[in-house]
Amino acid sequence: SRRYMVAGNWKMNGNRAENAVLLDGLLAGAGANAKVEILVCPPFPYLDSVGARLQGSAVLLGAQNLSEQDKAGAFTGEVLGAMLRDTGCGHVIVGHSERRALYGETDELVARKYQAAQKAGLVPVLCVGETLAEREGGQTEAVLARQLAAVLDLCGADSFAGAVIAYEPVWAIGTGKTATPQQAQDAHAFIRGQLRGRSAKIADSTRILYGGSVKADNAQALFANPDVDGGLIGGASLKAADFLAICAAA
Ligand code: 13P
Repeated sequence: SRRYMVAGNWKMNGNRAENAVLLDGLLAGAGANAKVEILVCPPFPYLDSVGARLQGSAVLLGAQNLSEQDKAGAFTGEVLGAMLRDTGCGHVIVGHSERRALYGETDELVARKYQAAQKAGLVPVLCVGETLAEREGGQTEAVLARQLAAVLDLCGADSFAGAVIAYEPVWAIGTGKTATPQQAQDAHAFIRGQLRGRSAKIADSTRILYGGSVKADNAQALFANPDVDGGLIGGASLKAADFLAICAAA
C-alpha cells in the first residue's frame, strides 16, 4: 500500500520563462492520476517562484541538494535545510550520483546531509546506485549495501520512516540506457532487503523510486514491478507532456 511517487529532478536547467511554461502544463494535468504523488525539484534560485506557482496544487516542492550543516553560519555558497523549509520545500534530494561523482560527496558526507535534512524537517530522497564498472565487476550489491549502510549506521533505520530512496544506476542516467524492468526489480528488492535486515516495518513502508532514462514508453514496465514505487526523472521532467505521461504510467 505504498503510494507511487514520480519526482522531477530538473538538475541545472530552466529559467523563469521556461519554468512558467513547464508549470502551466504540469498543473493542467497533475491531478489526473490519484495513485501518484508528484514532486518537482528546481534549482535553488527558482524555489521561491516555483513554490508560489504550486500553492494550492497537489504538486510537491523539493530541492536538489543541501548543506550538511544544521545551523546558519559562515559557509559561503551553501544552503541550509531550514532555508529550504522556509521557501516551502518538503523534500530534498540527497547524494545524487552527480553530486557524488562531480562534487566529491562521499558516503559519509551524504549521510550527514541526510541527517541535516531530517533535522530541518525535510523528507530526504536518498540516491544510491552503481557505476557501469561496478556493475560489470559484480559489485552492484556491495555498492548499494555500502551506500545504504553509511546512512543507516549514522541515522538508524527509523530515520527512514517517510523517507524515499531512489535507485539510480549511474550508467542509465542521461544515457538512454534504461535498466531493464528485471534489473530494476532485482536492485530494488536488494535495497528493500537491506532495510528489512534492520526493520521489517521500514522495509515495507519505504518508497523506492527508479531513476535513469525513464521515459513515457518504458515507465509502465518499470513501475509494474512489486518493489518499484515510482521514478526519479531527469531529462523527461523538463517537458510537461513527457512528465505527465510518466505520471500516468504509475
Ligand atoms: P535522466 O532521467 O535524464 O536519465 O536522469 C535521471 C536522474 O539522474 C534523475 O535524478
